[in-house]
Amino acid sequence: MTDITKTDVLIVGAGPVGLFAVFELGLFDMKCHLIDILDRPGGQCAELYPEKPIYDIPGWPSISAQGLVDKLLEQIAPFKPDFTYNRMVSSLEKLEDGSFRVTTDENEVFEAKVVVIAAGGGSFQPKRPPIPGIEPYEGKSVFYSVRRMEDFRGHDLVIVGGGDSALDWTLNLQPVAKSVTLVHRRPEFRAAPDSVNKMYAMQEMKQLDFQVGQVTGLTGADGQLSSAVIKGPDGDVEVPCTRMLPFFGLTMKLGPIAEWGLNLHENLIPVDTEKFQTSVPGIFAVGDINWYPGKLKLILSGFHEVALMAQAAKRIISPGERIVFQYTTSSTSLQKKLGVV
Ligand code: FAD
Repeated sequence: MTDITKTDVLIVGAGPVGLFAVFELGLFDMKCHLIDILDRPGGQCAELYPEKPIYDIPGWPSISAQGLVDKLLEQIAPFKPDFTYNRMVSSLEKLEDGSFRVTTDENEVFEAKVVVIAAGGGSFQPKRPPIPGIEPYEGKSVFYSVRRMEDFRGHDLVIVGGGDSALDWTLNLQPVAKSVTLVHRRPEFRAAPDSVNKMYAMQEMKQLDFQVGQVTGLTGADGQLSSAVIKGPDGDVEVPCTRMLPFFGLTMKLGPIAEWGLNLHENLIPVDTEKFQTSVPGIFAVGDINWYPGKLKLILSGFHEVALMAQAAKRIISPGERIVFQYTTSSTSLQKKLGVV
C-alpha cells in the first residue's frame, strides 16, 4: 500500500511566497509541507536571478534574491516545515471528509486539510534541446534532472550544456558513471569558475572527456541509447552514450494545475481578496499564480496575501476556535513559537 504523508497544510511551490506562508501559518500552529519541482527552495528568485539585488522588499534597501530566500528560510526554521524537492504536484482531489489528496509525478501521496497553491508562473520545466530524434529516449535514457545518482552508475554518460547544472553533475557523477563526456558549444562556460577549473583538471587526468561541439545524432533502440554523434570544429565524433543529461535551461509552464478543477482566468487562479481562496473552499492561491482586480506580481503582494490566507486556513483546520489578533513584538505566545523567549 502507498504510504500517505499527512500534514495540516500542503503548499505547492517553495518560492518566496510559499516560504513566507509557512511563517504566517506557523504562527497559528499549522504544520506545513512544501513540494517543488526544483531541487531547492526560492522559486524564481533562486532559479532566474539569484545574484540580482531586489530593492522593494520592505525593510531591505537592497537584498540579493538568493539572500532573501536564505533569510526566509531562517525566519521559518522555528516552524520546522517539511520539504519535498524534485517533484511536480500532478493531481489534487478533494476527499469525502473535506480534506485533500495530493499526488506527485513519482506517485507519492500527501493528505492535507488545506492546500495552498503558491506555484508562481507554474512549474519550472526543462527546455528540450535541439537534438534530432531525442523524443523516444526521454524518460528512458535521456533525463533532464538527476533524481537518483545510482541510476547513472556504470553508464556511459553524456552531459550537454555549459551552466552550473551541467558542470555540477559532470563533477558529481564522474565517480559513479563508467565514462563521462561533457559537450558544450564553446570552451567558455557560464558555470562557477571553480567547477570549470575542476572539470579541466579532470580532463587533464583523463577522468572525463570534454568535447566542444553540439550533439547532432543519437543511436539506440527501444528508448535505450548506445551512442551520440558530436559535431565539433574538426568534424563528427561518435562517443559511447547509454545515458544523456541535457541542461538547456528551464521554462515555466502552468502544467497540471489546469486539470485540478479550479476556475482559471488566463492561466491564473482567481481568488477573493479577503481570504485568497480559490473556487474550491479549502484551496487557496497566493503569489504570482493568483489573480484578482488590481493584482501586482510582486513579492510583497504575496507576503500580504499569505497573512490573510493563514487566518482563513486556521478557521478550516480549527473550526470554532477564536482567532486572536496578536503582534509578534508583544505576544509572549507568538514569541514562544518563534523560540525567542
Ligand atoms: P515563484 O517564485 O514562481 O515560485 C513558484 C514555485 O512553484 C516554483 O519554484 C515552481 O517550480 C513551483 N511549482 C509550480 N507548479 C508546481 C507543481 N505543479 N509542482 C511542484 N512545484 C511547482 N518581484 C519583486 O517584488 N521585486 C523585484 O525586484 C523583482 N524582480 C524580478 C526580476 C526577475 C528577473 C524576475 C523573473 C522576477 C522578478 N520579480 C520581482 C518577481 C518575483 O520573483 C515573483 O513575484 C515571485 O518570485 C513570486 O513568488 P511565488 O512564490 O509566487 O512564485
